Amino acid sequence: MNRIMMVDSNNRKINYLRLSITDRCNLRCMYCMPEDGIEFLPHDKILSYEEILRIVQLATYRGIRKVRLTGGEPLVRKGFTDFLKSMSEIEGLEEISITTNGVLLKQYAAEIKACGVTRLNISLDSLKPEKFKMITGRDYFHQVWEGIQEAERLGFAPIKLNVVAIKGINDDEIEAFGRLTLEKPYHIRFIEQMPIGGNNWNSDKFISILEIYERLQNVGPLVSIERRNSLDGPAQRYKIENAKGEIGLIGALSNHFCDVCNRLRLTADGHLRSCLFSETELDAMPLLREGKNDEEIIALIEKAIHEKPERHNLQNQGQRSCTRQMSSIGG
Ligand code: SAM
Ligand code: SF4
Repeated sequence: MNRIMMVDSNNRKINYLRLSITDRCNLRCMYCMPEDGIEFLPHDKILSYEEILRIVQLATYRGIRKVRLTGGEPLVRKGFTDFLKSMSEIEGLEEISITTNGVLLKQYAAEIKACGVTRLNISLDSLKPEKFKMITGRDYFHQVWEGIQEAERLGFAPIKLNVVAIKGINDDEIEAFGRLTLEKPYHIRFIEQMPIGGNNWNSDKFISILEIYERLQNVGPLVSIERRNSLDGPAQRYKIENAKGEIGLIGALSNHFCDVCNRLRLTADGHLRSCLFSETELDAMPLLREGKNDEEIIALIEKAIHEKPERHNLQNQGQRSCTRQMSSIGG
């Protein structure tokens, strides 16, 4: 089958697929997943690994070159590393990366590396064990930190640490995260908290990337880094003078990057979603389970790409933004 690079109706090249492979998680981050009252999908309502691999294979025929595995927590799904191995054998995929909370990373890092995957995003909202526990609901700071060290030891690069900045909670650590880049080759990515899945988003707790940028100047002057290529993400990239690592600022709200968005998402329950903040989704599961042929599934992928909204309107939507849980979409 021929490979075609697809553009959406706003002429954006869509080459990046984010896959939520499970809605389950071993943490309960305060901005993502409530401690109680969450209903997880029954196992038969989650795409099987075979179904995910089929969609990814077909998506490569329509220009997808990069895949990110996320969740929920991808490493909690049984058989993850075998699945990753199969994913790494798909022809036409140039890059596979994983977003993980790092709790199980020490255990799986070597197997992940053996699949040829070297790009990791690890969520870490605090460098203090007590604060980490307060934000995530679990006392796993040391486990995550050891996972990060193991990944570094095994030569993963880049190691990106995702920090969701929350005013009054972890904003006192912005400079400490900045200083970490002086000693370690990590890319620290500050992410503005987004209103998703009824997560009690509150403007009092919001801290913009502009404020973060200004706070980081206390550590040292920030030098801007150019985008590498069309697979680069939406982060504004900087380096503090003489640092080993980098800083990324992701202003999902204050500086939306819809104009350069190259993403398509596949939810854990098989819905193609072309914008994180739009409720429009196309359900691929029936097609996969009713034995439809490749052309019919490709047509659905084309439709999802074609109908990608021009932009989100989050600033004006506030709390109403996105009713699905972040964990089922994959962030
Ligand atoms: N469990 C994995 C993890 O936490 O890295 C992967 C899934 S998580 C949904 C993916 C990313 O979304 C994480 O970096 C997390 O911090 C971020 N995230 C979750 N809820 C968010 C929110 N409301 N606003 C901004 N980022 C959020
Ligand atoms: Fe789990 Fe990731 Fe959500 Fe935290 S952000 S609750 S680690 S899915």
